[in-house]
Amino acid sequence: KPITTDMETLTREVKKFATDKKLEIEMLQVREEYRREFLGNVSHELKTPLFTVQGYLSTLIDGAMEDKSIRKKYLKRAEKGVERLIYIVEDLDMITKLESGDLNLEFSDFDIVDLIQNVFDLLEMKADKKKITLSFENYHIQPTFVNGDKDKIQQVVENLIVNSIKYGKIGGSSEIAIVNLTPKKVLVRVTDNGEGIEKQNIPRLFERFYRVDKSGSRSEGGSGLGLAIVKHIIEAHKEKIYVESEFGIGSEFSFTLEKMAHS
Ligand code: ADP
Repeated sequence: KPITTDMETLTREVKKFATDKKLEIEMLQVREEYRREFLGNVSHELKTPLFTVQGYLSTLIDGAMEDKSIRKKYLKRAEKGVERLIYIVEDLDMITKLESGDLNLEFSDFDIVDLIQNVFDLLEMKADKKKITLSFENYHIQPTFVNGDKDKIQQVVENLIVNSIKYGKIGGSSEIAIVNLTPKKVLVRVTDNGEGIEKQNIPRLFERFYRVDKSGSRSEGGSGLGLAIVKHIIEAHKEKIYVESEFGIGSEFSFTLEKMAHS
């Protein structure tokens, strides 16, 4: 760089350098804070299932092993804990990829009606356990081709239906519908008549690790990452996600997708 003799230019350059450095430092500080918070949340989320597994294994070692029926019950519970850990780690992996922009979407045309049927098949047992009826408003409709990353959209649909079961009431319902918005857009909507969400909590639902009910006493495990993943995937598709909910009445989550002409 040539040596600047002009005092004014020099002062400006020094100032600019100082501001740039300050901004850089501030950005690093924000990043560090974010990293610390993320790690804190991760270890917090992992602790509960880890302690559960440890608890059952210790009880077995301390003598519960002798009783055949208890042995099986406790091993099953420990297995459930490990399953939860796997879900959490998978969600963490996904959110890390999504947040760092590392996720390459693979676009293709696929039938969303067929995808929803597959998700229903996957989740039927889970719904049955809570006597929740899964219904597909337009199950009789023609195949509806949309464009997007099929696996990721399947994850979105799965997360939304899983939530409608988790936060649904026993004997309740979870209904999915496909609505034609325009000739080029469809809306996929998941409606439940479950516990609903209080108004003041709605804006925070899509934050990672956010949960309305933080008490560990609730049997419904989760990582608090499901909706953050959903939002990232939909936004990566440049589509929109909506939520409407009434506390004690139920919730409705919906998102848009690009519809293909040949459907
Ligand atoms: P989690 O793993 O806790 O289910 P999510 O990110 O999927 O995490 O959801 C965040 C929170 O939003 C949940 O903990 C729950 O409080 C609330 N929530 C999500 N879906 C529903 C729903 N269908 N009905 C009521 N509350 C919901």
